[in-house]
Parts: sequence; C-alpha cells; structure tokens
Amino acid sequence: MSKSLQTTMVQSGVHSLAEVPAYVSVPKVPPIYMSSVFSFDDVPSLDAVYAKEAPGYVYSRDGNPGTDYTASMIAEAEGGECGLVFGSGMAAILQSIIANIGMGDHIVSSPVLYGGVYNYLKNEATRFGVETTFADFTDMAAVEAAIKPNTKILYTETITNPLMEVFDLKAIADIAHKHGCKLIVDNTFASPAVCKPLELGADIVADSSTKYMGGHSDITGGAVVTSPDNIAAIKRGLAMYGPVMSPFDAWLMARSLRTMDMRVARHSDNALKVAEFLEKNPKIEKVHYPGLASSPYHDLAMKMFFKGRCGGMLSADIAGGEKGASDFIKNLKHIKFVPSLASYTTSLSYPAKTSHRAYNEEELKAAGITMGTLRFSIGLEEPEDIIAEFDEALNKL
Ligand code: PLP
Repeated sequence: MSKSLQTTMVQSGVHSLAEVPAYVSVPKVPPIYMSSVFSFDDVPSLDAVYAKEAPGYVYSRDGNPGTDYTASMIAEAEGGECGLVFGSGMAAILQSIIANIGMGDHIVSSPVLYGGVYNYLKNEATRFGVETTFADFTDMAAVEAAIKPNTKILYTETITNPLMEVFDLKAIADIAHKHGCKLIVDNTFASPAVCKPLELGADIVADSSTKYMGGHSDITGGAVVTSPDNIAAIKRGLAMYGPVMSPFDAWLMARSLRTMDMRVARHSDNALKVAEFLEKNPKIEKVHYPGLASSPYHDLAMKMFFKGRCGGMLSADIAGGEKGASDFIKNLKHIKFVPSLASYTTSLSYPAKTSHRAYNEEELKAAGITMGTLRFSIGLEEPEDIIAEFDEALNKL
C-alpha cells in the first residue's frame, strides 16, 4: 500500500545521521539550527552525549550548535574562554548574579545602572534575602568600606547608563579579589569594540547583545563571557530557568558581530562630534560623554578604552527640565524617541520616563539624573546630518 501524502510529508526530509552526506564543501555561512530537539539512533548514543563521552546535543534549552557557535564568537570578542548566549541582556546579567549568590549574601554595586538591574537589586533580590549596598565607585575607599563578610559580588557597568560614568575596573577588580568577591561588569554601552573588562580583571562580563552586538534593533539577546570555572553554574541556571536565545536570533547575532567593530568605531567618531556640538549649545546645561576632554572620566577612558573610542552613547541635560526635554523630542523629525539604543540610526530616550522609571525622585536626584536628561544613541549617519537636526530642534526651543 502506498503511503498517504500526509505520512510521506511527515516522514520525508528527516535529517538522520546515516543520511548526513559527506560533502566536499560547506556552506560559507553557518546554518541556522532551528531545532528544539535532536534525535538519536540508539540509547547508548544518548547516554554518551549526556556523559560527555560523545559530541552531540539533546535539547535546545540545554544547548544548540547555533547558539554555541555565536557564544564562542562573543567569547572571542570579549577575550574570554567561555561564552553563553541568552534571550535578553537581563537574563544574562541576572543569571550571572544568581549563580553567585545564596540566601543572606550581599552585593556592592555602583548606583547609576540600567534601571532594570537596579530594580532587581533593590526590589527583587531582597525577596531572597540578598541585600545590595550602592557605593560611590569613583572612590575606591568607599567601595572597600561597603564590603561585608557576606559580600559575594561587586557589580557595575563599563560605561554607566545613562550618565556615562567610567570607573577604574582594574582597581575595583583588585578590591573584589582581595575580599574573595567576584566582579561582574555589564559591558553593554561600551561593547568589546571599546573595552574588554575581563582583560582588566573582571571575573564575568555580561552584555545586552540587543545593543551594539546586534546593532540593528531586530534581536533581543544577552551574553555572558567568563572562565570555565564560572560558566558551569551560570549554564546550569540557564538550562534551569530557561531564558535561551532562539537559534534564529543566534544566527542573526553572528551575522551582526561581523560588523560590530566597524560600526562601533563609527558610532564613537560620530558621538564625539555630536557631544562637542552639544557642549557648545546654550540650550544644553551639561553633556555626559567620556570622550569629551572636559569629562571627569576622560583620562580613565583613554587609559581603559581602545583606540580613543568611547562608544555611541551620550547624554545631555536640556535647559527647561521636563518641558525642555519634551519640546526637544517633539521638534525632531528623523531622529526618533526610542526607549532602546545602539542601532544604526540615531535615536534618543528619556531615562526618567523609560529605562530609569524604577528610580524614585530622590534616587534620580542622588544619581544626578534630571528631568532634562536625555540619552542619545548616536547612529551611523553622516555626523553633519545628525548635528543639523539637533541644531534645528534646539533652535526652536
Ligand atoms: N544593561 C544595559 C546597560 C542596558 O541598557 C539594558 C537595556 O537597555 C540592559 C542591560 C538589559 O538588556 P535587555 O533589554 O536586552 O534585557
């Protein structure tokens, strides 16, 4: 009896080991392994993969060749031994933290952070008995004084969101290690094209790869790079909590990583030009960009960052507070109000209303984020065109 069309279509085209052809060529671009699960010819093969006695994959929450391939590219970019990719930057950061804390532990963090992580440290980790002390990371004595016997993690960002502060990661790593703590650094705003925190002594680097690694506003993802010792616990958490990156997004991410260094070089050049323009404009009260010679973080940035690059992110305090900021946003034509960053187009965001909503009025004030602070993600356009649009919007205020 001939098989029905339905059965034929279900059973044909199946990728079995015996049918993998021995081609003498390979696809130039690695394939997308869009498979949630892997099939075995027999039980001993499955046992051998679980026992790590044979290469292979079982289930994509535990591992997938495409996501592993992208993770290894990111590990090379960050200058580390092992990488993992995640479904978002938050997943990468929180899994790195969770893998290194238990009930009653303590974290020391810089206070100006991506609002989502600040919210986690202040309101979520506390539900599990983990307290955080927010210390001034420009002051090494203050960082050391904040460490307690139960401190496990020092946490900061290479370039802080949204005020673009830069801290001495080497000195902070030394303090962390002296007290038996791990330094976790969120490298999102810098990207490995600007700084490699692992080379400065950080133990774990995490990135929201939604940003410069992806670079096109079309992928949500995260990555962690660290040593083989640290990776095992983070990987266990990834498989347990399950915030995996989809194989398709991993493929897109690998594509984007090919141009990350070139893009970030251009983002950095453009951002410096825009920062210099804004600094001279009378409608701007303050510009936050470590590339500016006037920045208190300039010398440190030039020491820690590659090729004089400071990345594409800057912020500026517009005169007139909330009204000034709102009017400026309305006056823009091509440059969109977008609560994210690091794409090819220039965009801007309003930290007090978006990424830093978790900060109350007092915390915003203490951090130095005003109702006039706007955060700019400078894109890949010609810098003159970006400046012309900002100039026009400021002139209308
Ligand atoms: N870290 C920084 C510095 C960020 O700006 C963000 C998001 O904007 C994140 C982490 C979180 O990344 P994701 O949105 O990919 O979860």
